[in-house]
Amino acid sequence: MKAILVHTPGGPEQLQLSEIPIPTPEPGQVLIKISYIGVNYIDTYFRTGLYKADPPIAIGMEASGTVEAVGAGVRNLAPGDPVAYCMARGSYAEYAAVPAWQTVKLPSGISLDTAAAALLQGMTAHYLTHSTFSIKAGTTALIHAAAGGTGLLLVQMAKLLGAHIIATCSTPQKAELARQAGADEVILYKDQDFAAEARRLTGGRGVDVVYDSVGAATFHKSLDSLRPRGMLVTFGNASGPVPPVEPLLLSQKGSLFLTRPTLAHYAATEEEFQWRAADVLNWIALGRLRVHIFKTYPLADAPQAHRDLESRATTGKLLLKP
Ligand code: NDP
Repeated sequence: MKAILVHTPGGPEQLQLSEIPIPTPEPGQVLIKISYIGVNYIDTYFRTGLYKADPPIAIGMEASGTVEAVGAGVRNLAPGDPVAYCMARGSYAEYAAVPAWQTVKLPSGISLDTAAAALLQGMTAHYLTHSTFSIKAGTTALIHAAAGGTGLLLVQMAKLLGAHIIATCSTPQKAELARQAGADEVILYKDQDFAAEARRLTGGRGVDVVYDSVGAATFHKSLDSLRPRGMLVTFGNASGPVPPVEPLLLSQKGSLFLTRPTLAHYAATEEEFQWRAADVLNWIALGRLRVHIFKTYPLADAPQAHRDLESRATTGKLLLKP
């Protein structure tokens, strides 16, 4: 089968189309014939070596498709089932053998492209708004990169929970998308000081929570945007990883809370994984959540998909098709 592998971490050109054997499902695994592959920013971290793995590095954490075969002990899925999965690496391929507990059978009304576009980023938005910081009616949330794949779902989910949302993004076109998703205010953070704006928009108080996936470039101003005892959820490195910080800084800026969560720890059991996945897919089926697909690229064009994602030219989700 065809698969994208990285032999030497580096730029998008290191994503090499290779020929490898179709995997055999081990006990507890399902073999999926892949229809659509979700591109996530984390794929670029494994490609560049920011996140470590032994070469050849299989890229991709998410896909949808049809169950081809099941390993011993798998009872809830059968050949022919339409499914999606996330959090097992190696989805930039024609087939993947993945744990059944990280795979969900698609409810009727959910297409394969929508599922591949929604699962990982939707489950991320779910844990960020329900578990890391539990959003309530009236919570004021600052959400960075709000027109991105994760950002658009995060804005919608925070809105469903009753948040007042201040969003940031880089262009007026992205601002319009963020507004359509439910943002009450949008700051163009390349042109405006977002911390000063967030304070102004909250009458000087600061926001209750900041969801920051941008990382190094926004970290300090995100702290400056918070009310006393507010929480900074720094959950990504799109502009680079945040350098070390002194805990005393959190005291000086208002006894702040700082957390650096990752989906793996918030979808750590089958029960938790399936709960978040079912919520996301059911809300889409009911029309409560909308999925915005930017573009579907052929698998061989994975390098171009990474270039587009890293150049800030995209909105919503990028997919690959084997
Ligand atoms: P996005 O679609 O959000 O793309 C990244 C966006 O980040 C860009 O479109 C851009 O929006 C913004 N950005 C700001 N500065 C930069 C920069 N210097 N270079 C590139 N982009 C920049 O990607 P994803 O939705 O896939 O991921 C978003 C973030 O969420 C990533 O950091 C990812 O690692 C993180 N994430 C974390 C998870 C976790 O559990 N911890 C799970 C899933 C995602 P703009 O032009 O508006 O600035």
